[in-house]
Amino acid sequence: MRTALDLMAQHGVSGAYHFRWMTKKRTKGQCVPPIDGRPGLIQLSRDYVALNDIDMVRNTILHEIAHAMVGCQHAHNNVWRRQFIAIGGDGSRTVSPNVKDSTKTYVLNCPKGHALGTKKGYRMPTAYTAKAKRQARCREHNVPGLYWTEA
Ligand SMILES: [Zn+2]
Ligand SMILES: [Zn+2]
Repeated sequence: MRTALDLMAQHGVSGAYHFRWMTKKRTKGQCVPPIDGRPGLIQLSRDYVALNDIDMVRNTILHEIAHAMVGCQHAHNNVWRRQFIAIGGDGSRTVSPNVKDSTKTYVLNCPKGHALGTKKGYRMPTAYTAKAKRQARCREHNVPGLYWTEA
């Protein structure tokens, strides 16, 4: 990703750190320290980058670069925070609550045609599939075969 590589070069961490995409969805960005002479990694979630605007993504890249600059041992302390703000970030530990992600809402259905509840997640819940699905019963109707659908 151009922006990440440019920012990493600009802040002098592109020698010690490489950029890598990651498939994680809940984790938007990650800084992995160098180990045993191998370069560290600044990683970004593909999902996150695809769904959000460049300013938000840019701030996440700066967040991770600040970790790389001061060392991961500082975690999200004041040393890290000052560095993050100094290079143009917003100083926040977490991503904005306005972040878009691919979370979906899933509904647990009774075969009698009503919903028992909902659950948010990145993939269909695995409870009540296969064997468990045949055994699980709606308390109201006492019929087996509860199943999940996407809302
Ligand atoms: Zn962090
Ligand atoms: Zn029912």
